Amino acid sequence: MPVRVRIAPSPTGDPHVGTAYIALFNYCFAKHEGGSFVLRIEDTDRTRSTPESEQAILRALRWVGLVWDEGPDVGGPFGPYRQSERGEIYRRHADVLLERGRAYRCFCTAERLGELREDQKLAKLPPGYDGRCRKLAAEEGAARAAARAAAGEVHVVRLAMPREGTTVFTDRLRGPLEFENAKIDDQVLLKSDGFPTYHLANVVDDHLMEITHVIRAEEWISSTPKHVVLYDAFGWQAPEFVHMPLLRNADRSKISKRKNPVSLDYYEGAGILSETLLNFLGLMGWSFGGDREKFTLPEMIEAFDFARVSLGGPVFDLEKLSWLNGLYLRELSDDAFLARLRAWRLSDEHLRRLVPLLRDRVRRLDEFIPSAEFFLSGDLDLARCGVDLVPKGRAAKETGTVLAAIVDEYETIRGNWTVAALEACSRAFAEQQAWKTKELFMALRVAATGRTMSPPLFESMELLGKEQVRRRLRLAADFLLAQPQPQPPKA
Ligand code: GLU
Repeated sequence: MPVRVRIAPSPTGDPHVGTAYIALFNYCFAKHEGGSFVLRIEDTDRTRSTPESEQAILRALRWVGLVWDEGPDVGGPFGPYRQSERGEIYRRHADVLLERGRAYRCFCTAERLGELREDQKLAKLPPGYDGRCRKLAAEEGAARAAARAAAGEVHVVRLAMPREGTTVFTDRLRGPLEFENAKIDDQVLLKSDGFPTYHLANVVDDHLMEITHVIRAEEWISSTPKHVVLYDAFGWQAPEFVHMPLLRNADRSKISKRKNPVSLDYYEGAGILSETLLNFLGLMGWSFGGDREKFTLPEMIEAFDFARVSLGGPVFDLEKLSWLNGLYLRELSDDAFLARLRAWRLSDEHLRRLVPLLRDRVRRLDEFIPSAEFFLSGDLDLARCGVDLVPKGRAAKETGTVLAAIVDEYETIRGNWTVAALEACSRAFAEQQAWKTKELFMALRVAATGRTMSPPLFESMELLGKEQVRRRLRLAADFLLAQPQPQPPKA
């Protein structure tokens, strides 16, 4: 059977570095084996999925150069590749499971499920569905439930997990893994709006798209026994499973945007070359052989072997990434280097956006570059500008807390990173914190630009972009929160 692998991102946010990491391993394995690399968009969560996020993911994957053989915009024989366009397929498959008694209709209301959760919490029991409708279907017969559904009664479809025994699957990197069935909840497969959940859509699509190897992150291990039960219920052969180790922050926690930028857009904006990023991700949990750290994508494909994956959580270390990027930059010819600079921030397109903000602030052209410096640089020198961060009468710690909180607040406008949205969000936030806008705006200005005087704050923030602003505000917050607390004067 020809090797077919896939990545299946959910378009619910920024293009994540973890997506590129998993894509890289899928890509290398597929190309090493002469197989196909498929991109499938898992947009079944209708409230969180957005077309902007999907576009950003496609763009970022193209930027790193992991181009898919089949997918939403290139098509292919197994399409459509967007789950929101495959609703009928999932409903048909849910029906098959209902007919076979491997799934049942559940009419329990949100209210009942809420009470159940509360009761379980009080009784210190693990949360989970108590199987009331499963019992009912057994007693009254599934036909009665089907009639209720046909009469328009709101319901979901749940997987009838085996109540006894264990489910076992073999992970290529970990060997056999065994799960007690009794501990696995009866998963919802089809929601009341007729949309599938991840589990159903993922299994149905992997089967129909003839995926031979599911290579994904470790965090999905606990979903796999549910998938194995589904494959069995359909009478299908399950693909091979490979769960890659999670990327970690320096403190070994799962990589998170609090501690590391996680959006691929950040790395592109920081001037990390796409080939460096791939090389760096290739070092995460995988070894080329010997102590070789620098290799190209074709070299990684050639040498690819899962036997070289180690499971000790790889640490995503920005310093190391910058070091590696330096090696790549040094290899470029002067012309190639210049071309990279131009493609990065010295394009006419980018400079054209800076000019209106800065032109009236300089008297001579030789003041332009210094005035634009914070738009063209990375992290700011907080030791130098840090004192200006804290408004008069406020404490460093308080200011740090406020800056950290506004970073979270800005999450709500990430899809709409505009002057108007930034201003409205910041004003509302100041009011909610009982800070004067003047105080907040100064702290923001210094944190984002490193200066007490800058072009208009929100215009600057819009142009800096959400990744850069997030990073700078976060670093400023961390800097302030790490300041020694002032001691009360001794009596
Ligand atoms: N949609 C899942 C995600 O967002 C896919 C996980 C899988 O590969 O099965 O990562």
